[in-house]
Amino acid sequence: MNLIKRLIVQPPLLYRLMFPEAVWRIQVVGRKVAYLTFDDGPVPEATPKILEILDHYNVKATFFMVGDNARRYPELYKAVRDAGHAIGNHTMHHVRGRKTSFRRYIRDILEAHELLKVAMFRPPHGLLSFRQAHTLQKHLNMIMYDVVTRDYARNITPEEVVNNVKRFARSGSIIVFHDSEKSAKNTIAALPAAIEWLLKNGFELRAITPPA
Ligand SMILES: [Zn+2]
Repeated sequence: MNLIKRLIVQPPLLYRLMFPEAVWRIQVVGRKVAYLTFDDGPVPEATPKILEILDHYNVKATFFMVGDNARRYPELYKAVRDAGHAIGNHTMHHVRGRKTSFRRYIRDILEAHELLKVAMFRPPHGLLSFRQAHTLQKHLNMIMYDVVTRDYARNITPEEVVNNVKRFARSGSIIVFHDSEKSAKNTIAALPAAIEWLLKNGFELRAITPPA
């Protein structure tokens, strides 16, 4: 794996230090836990099948939803919630923090908040400015990640997605997948093997509960 890819899969320390209040990993004393997360849904191309897979293995996950998708597909939003998975805010229109004015960015998050009413937030592309991060951290729990599967990448195979999990998952890992139209094929193909490997290696898979 080349350096650039590796930096994407494992966010560098410097980047983590920029957002000290964000959560990158959640370790539980005496237990080996990992957290599957799905960004960008819910969408019909991916979410129902992912819910089926999670249900099959009886594991809970966390869905960082784009508010506009939750609004368009209320039945999918409800299905995720009713299955006992956790939900997080991923903005209303998947806006990039650094490319959006402070006011517009906050407004977009608030719009999603009106709909989802959840305390956890993950910025699209993991990108936001210091000022945005500083303000948001006061009101929402910023949930980042320490393993990006790259299931969205155009040239990646499901095997490589699974390998990213095998290679980088450790106790407390927050693992990023997507429930988007773009990544659906890879995610759906890789997810069962990734879950099986995690369970076989003693990980408990839990939904993220925001710190009190
Ligand atoms: Zn996203």
